[in-house]
Amino acid sequence: MKSEPILVHHTRLAPDDVYLSRLIEFFGLTCRTVDTSTLDTELDRAADHDLCILASAAVIDGWCRSFANPVVALDKLRQKASFVFVYGFVPELSTVYIATSLTEGGIADVRRFKRTDLRYQVSSSRPEITREFSGLSFGCVRNATDFGFVCSADSRSMVSLVSIEGTPFWIVAEKDRCKTFLLACNAIADTQERIKGNIDVTSYFSRLLPAAMFLRFAFTSRCWHGKHQFGNFIIDDPPLKRSYGYLNFRELVSKMDTYDFASTIAFIPWNYRRSDSEVTQLFRERQDRLSLCVHGCDHTEAEFSSTDLYVLNSKVRLASARMNCLHRENNLCFAKTMVFPQGGFSIEALTALKSNNYVAALNSSGSPANAWADGSLTVADFLYPAITRYTGFPLFVRRYPGGLEQFALDLFCGKPLLVVEHHEYFKDGGAHLAEFISRLNSFEGLQWRGLNEIVMKSYLEREISNEVFACRLQTNHSVIENQAERERTCIVNKFEPGDVPVQNVLVNGRPTRFKMIDHVLEFETRIPAFSSGVVKIAYRNLLPHVTPGQGFAARSRVWARRMLCEFRDNVLCRNDLLFAGGQALCRGISGRAAAGPTH
Ligand SMILES: [Zn+2]
Repeated sequence: MKSEPILVHHTRLAPDDVYLSRLIEFFGLTCRTVDTSTLDTELDRAADHDLCILASAAVIDGWCRSFANPVVALDKLRQKASFVFVYGFVPELSTVYIATSLTEGGIADVRRFKRTDLRYQVSSSRPEITREFSGLSFGCVRNATDFGFVCSADSRSMVSLVSIEGTPFWIVAEKDRCKTFLLACNAIADTQERIKGNIDVTSYFSRLLPAAMFLRFAFTSRCWHGKHQFGNFIIDDPPLKRSYGYLNFRELVSKMDTYDFASTIAFIPWNYRRSDSEVTQLFRERQDRLSLCVHGCDHTEAEFSSTDLYVLNSKVRLASARMNCLHRENNLCFAKTMVFPQGGFSIEALTALKSNNYVAALNSSGSPANAWADGSLTVADFLYPAITRYTGFPLFVRRYPGGLEQFALDLFCGKPLLVVEHHEYFKDGGAHLAEFISRLNSFEGLQWRGLNEIVMKSYLEREISNEVFACRLQTNHSVIENQAERERTCIVNKFEPGDVPVQNVLVNGRPTRFKMIDHVLEFETRIPAFSSGVVKIAYRNLLPHVTPGQGFAARSRVWARRMLCEFRDNVLCRNDLLFAGGQALCRGISGRAAAGPTH
């Protein structure tokens, strides 16, 4: 199929049609809209099975009414299309005949669900369509928008892809060379909808994933997609000591070998001269499983929530100097990727990281402390591998262990699967860890890699022609792979709002000419067959800074806080009775009114 998707509307686009057209364009496809009055002409012009048609059941109903026999019209639709997607089947409306006809009598009715605790059950029978969600069950369903297809005794021509309470919710029916997808949901998610906090896959699943899965299935590599399914388990805070709290590095490596996963230590730069040599040796020897990234600078309270670029730039420079020293003295590599202490950061912190040529930031929340009043994140922001809305600097969202459906959404969107935990997670000797990792490893094709490789290869790609593909970079240091057996041209682009000047762009070490068009940096490069190109975008740091170094009082406060945190993690955490008293002590030192020093 060579044609672009056709979205059919009746007189004008309904709001859900507009949302569907936005989703189509999100995937890099051109959405053609056709009115029902001209659909017949469009079908007459097309070769058999050359079209992909999307429409609501109400629109198809409006079109069918102009025919004496709707069955003939629907047969013609399937004769001209390879793929048909019809959404919006609801109870008590007269559109059920469309579902009945498109499934050769397989669907008899559409019903409501009464219970409010029901779950989506994604079939594992068609993983090429349902992808990472195959076999998952999660809830609760949205009773206001989600319904079920009541099937007749003879429903052989259709396959249920998602069901609710044993009743098909999303089905595919095949006839000749046409696959028809029917969805008993009366809403499509708006990718421009504002989101507070993080996207919750359960509340968006029915309105977003079936349509997105359909587009990915019908248009395959023509849609923007990630190249890899990467995973990494990130443990915050520990210095490179033999043991820290419940974490022991040798035991961690043994668990990674046993259960097959890879870890990154989010390392507090303040600890750069406090490492055990046997642990640094372990990191050097086991780079296949262990990597390091940067976790704050002193790890003091909300140090990256400041909005003062002078302070932030100085902090980032000091953190970098400490990490470089750790690298020099111990021959330890680290990912130039920042994990924000206590999850707090400002937009200016992203600017400071970008100015210092950091590659990415990781955080549990995508929203900065000072998010723009009118510029909070949208659904679309969470569907890219990283959030780049603020300053164009990539922020990868990571998650605590939980339901697989959240991680399935990450992988579906081309995001790496990034899990975060602390030493307390190992309190049970690794039982929870083993169970959770084995569930994650049920994702087919999941590759556990070091954080550096992950962020550098987490870009989106789509095929434009046999010879040309496009790449949408997330990070300033990326490795673009051409896995085809022919040399291809890659059109590379990256969102650059222009707040930090670009010094140069290097491809495989050579300066490359680039254009800036509407805040998008763009250039082309040729990549030989089965090869890769290393892209490095360097920024100029024009921010003010102080020379690294702090006053005695400030250094003493940082030292006291770090020692207390280590006392808490190494001693108090292992004794429940002492723990509560220790928390109060930590609160006193850190000057915080609420909880003690967090991670
Ligand atoms: Zn921390």
